[in-house]
Amino acid sequence: MMLRIAVPPLLRRVTFRVRMARTGVTARWRITRELPPQAVGYVVGVDVAFLGATGIAAVVAVKAGIRTTDVLTFVAFGGLGWVARRLAPRVGAARGRADQPQRDLLSAWTLPVALLLPPLYAAVLHLPLYLRPYGDARNAPLHKQFFNAAALGLSGLCASVTHAALAPVHGTYTTVTFSSSYVQVMALFGASAAYHLVNRLIMFGVMRCVAPTTAPQAFGGRDAWTVDVTEMCSGIAVAVLWATSPLLMLAALPPVVSLQRSILHADLLHAARTDAKTSLANPAHWREVAEQEIRRARRCAEPVSVLLVDIDHFKDVNDRHGHLVGDEVLVTVADVLRSSARPHDLVGRFGGEEFVVLLAGADLDGAARAAERIRGHVAAQYCHIAGIAPLAVTVSVGVATATGSTSDLPGLLEDADAALYRAKREGRNRVRLAGADGQLTGGAAAWTV
Ligand code: GH3
Ligand code: MG
Ligand code: MG
Repeated sequence: MMLRIAVPPLLRRVTFRVRMARTGVTARWRITRELPPQAVGYVVGVDVAFLGATGIAAVVAVKAGIRTTDVLTFVAFGGLGWVARRLAPRVGAARGRADQPQRDLLSAWTLPVALLLPPLYAAVLHLPLYLRPYGDARNAPLHKQFFNAAALGLSGLCASVTHAALAPVHGTYTTVTFSSSYVQVMALFGASAAYHLVNRLIMFGVMRCVAPTTAPQAFGGRDAWTVDVTEMCSGIAVAVLWATSPLLMLAALPPVVSLQRSILHADLLHAARTDAKTSLANPAHWREVAEQEIRRARRCAEPVSVLLVDIDHFKDVNDRHGHLVGDEVLVTVADVLRSSARPHDLVGRFGGEEFVVLLAGADLDGAARAAERIRGHVAAQYCHIAGIAPLAVTVSVGVATATGSTSDLPGLLEDADAALYRAKREGRNRVRLAGADGQLTGGAAAWTV
């Protein structure tokens, strides 16, 4: 799946609007005050790199001579990609949070262009596919559409150059020049890997610029990489089939559509486990995983801990700034929790402004340290929202650990809740440990274990 970024609601402020009178299309270039300067620099940098690299590729292509068969191949795959883009909403992936990458299966049709044709074609192929001043996308910011096309263009260009460097040919690629040696076969995989890797790197970069708390996991989980590999193989198969006979595309269409459906299944599964607002685990999924972990910990005589995290005076945030700002704060706190936790800790939203963290293998000391780290990170994180001064909130945390063979999840949550209640009662913005009145951690002041 190739990634493209959607712009967070905060960034959807129009400051400059170009009206194309003849077509009646309103195209928007949204350069926002809220966009962090480093994000503007990054986006413009990628766009400029794309234009520069495409210019060089064009000069090279013109010097080598433009072949009619290459142009026809480009038009055919452009058409297939366009159909795939149009069909994607019907059979494709569900939309996630606005500032997270969206996935589509376009590269099954665009990767072959990188493998079959000179770099120029892969560079420009995404422009007609992503710059769409019509349909649902007509109001989408053009700078976003161009950035997606540029990122994918750079990815295609890198793939094409990698392929040409590893398996150079004179003339067009054929079945023979694709696969008559191990090096040529490996070149196909190397180029395809470059395509996906460059795309992920560019998208991860922009996510980190727009939301610095983006967790490293956003670079891609196991599911995402699995789909990438499957899609990469489809792209290679499609390229080889095309080189054998373009008519064999008829055999490629059904499997690629099935692949799109498999992504939909993975997305539905993910949606069923996820809180839509914060993208954290929802209570049902969190409880299921926590039950499993407690059973495992009991069998192996290992500790397992739970943190209950509640935002302090959150009602005041809503009352003062409104629910939409409250929602932005919730998302920021969720991101901080996610990035402060270890990769194998499970962070969930229990409802409202209450979160829960499962710390597998952590004893009370370790859990208290994690809780204090989280508390400190939340307190230090400002939420930048248009029209109001940067906003910071604090959290209170209750910590409980299961070590005995009789411990269960309800008991553990009850203990953590009692500790959280103490943290609230004793002033908020602090960590309290279940059943450890004498060793309370000291909020914003010094804390020692
Ligand atoms: P305390 O420090 O004691 O926890 O005080 P609090 O104000 O955080 O707690 P209280 O339970 O009084 O208020 C929680 C508020 O959270 C009330 C509710 O409107 C708000 N809330 C719950 N879910 C959401 C949500 O999804 N979005 C927004 N914006 N607010 C929510
Ligand atoms: Mg609260
Ligand atoms: Mg609460």
